Amino acid sequence: MTGDLQSTVEEHAQAAGFAAGGIAPIPALDSAEGEEQAAYFADWIAQGYAGEMEYLKRKDALGRFVRSSLEVAVPWARSVIVCAAPYGGGPEYPLSTDPAPPGTGWIGRYAWSGKEAPAGPPVPSDYHKVLLRRLKRMEVSLKASLGEFASWAYVDTGPLVERAFSAMAGIGWTGKNLCTLNQERGSFFFLGVILTSLEVPGELRATLPADRCGSCTRCLDACPTGALVGPHQMDASRCISYLTIEKRGTIDPALRAGMGRQIFGCDICQDVCPWNTRARRKPERATADPELLVREPLVNPQLSTLAALSEPEWEALFFGSPVKRARFAGFRRNLAIAMGNSGDQSALPQLGRWASAEEPDATLRETAQWALARVEEVRSLAGGSGGNQKMHSRQEEDPELV
Ligand code: SF4
Ligand code: SF4
Repeated sequence: MTGDLQSTVEEHAQAAGFAAGGIAPIPALDSAEGEEQAAYFADWIAQGYAGEMEYLKRKDALGRFVRSSLEVAVPWARSVIVCAAPYGGGPEYPLSTDPAPPGTGWIGRYAWSGKEAPAGPPVPSDYHKVLLRRLKRMEVSLKASLGEFASWAYVDTGPLVERAFSAMAGIGWTGKNLCTLNQERGSFFFLGVILTSLEVPGELRATLPADRCGSCTRCLDACPTGALVGPHQMDASRCISYLTIEKRGTIDPALRAGMGRQIFGCDICQDVCPWNTRARRKPERATADPELLVREPLVNPQLSTLAALSEPEWEALFFGSPVKRARFAGFRRNLAIAMGNSGDQSALPQLGRWASAEEPDATLRETAQWALARVEEVRSLAGGSGGNQKMHSRQEEDPELV
């Protein structure tokens, strides 16, 4: 084995198409780190912060949360390779917190990804598949270089919370918004993982990236639904990403106004982060990944255009895209909420159709009825002009970071 495992992993990650990669040992369950990770996870579940994400609450035969520790979930694994691929384009694209054209919604930047088509604009690319192909290439090349070892590559579908190991693999520290933050790249990157049977001796461990959040609390202050209940503490059941993507059926009316114009995912706590502001100022950091290009029609899309899509048209627009995870019904429910929050009277006819007795989807019907009243509420709050929900201005001055 090479004397510099970290450099080897980094080289193979870059050769496979990643911007960065590193390897971290898996702490033993009875080590201080292992106990801390398991206790944090158990407490998070006990608080009810996992919402209806039952897969996170699964336990093994001994009553231990499977996701609380890799030693529980994958006993043969000794280390984790974590690789990063940036997404979302450069400063030419707006932030979710910028003032936006009236009647537009926001789709999380991670779902903008497309790849070049033989003719015309980029077509959707599924980042899971893009990253998995690269991880598989890396598995092959690493085994050729280091010798055989057991491995399991995955993207988002595996048993661990990637961020816990991103820091140990040298990718970045965990920000107060729970995103992995890199000093050069900010937080807009996908993470792919390979679990391995490789031992990582102490002297070959990556240097832990320093926590550079300092006294900043912008993400906590900006979260519109109060999902960031404290530094490094998220109530996922209040998070707009969870509500718009994972939550089925009705959304708690108390959270709807705070959802603003987000129709799939939420980038607010990342868009206000000064480390992302800094990363955007570095043109060389702009995404030029040919498989993760920006699909322009998904940037500030018109709500009315999306609301007019039939199910087959919606399926075609988002074929191969993460947006499919919300399902057509969930997406229209999200649209109704965003249209209500827009205060835009031109949304009333569509909302009226969805709110009528002819609409078979009871969740959409009820949400649209709420949205009809919300349009009027927003207009009266805005003195009759409507349309402009609260926007966070761009932060040009950095708070005290470390
Ligand atoms: S993604 Fe949005 S809702 Fe979720 S914690 Fe961040 S700002 Fe809050
Ligand atoms: S906004 Fe501030 S506190 Fe939040 S992750 Fe970024 S630097 Fe850390």
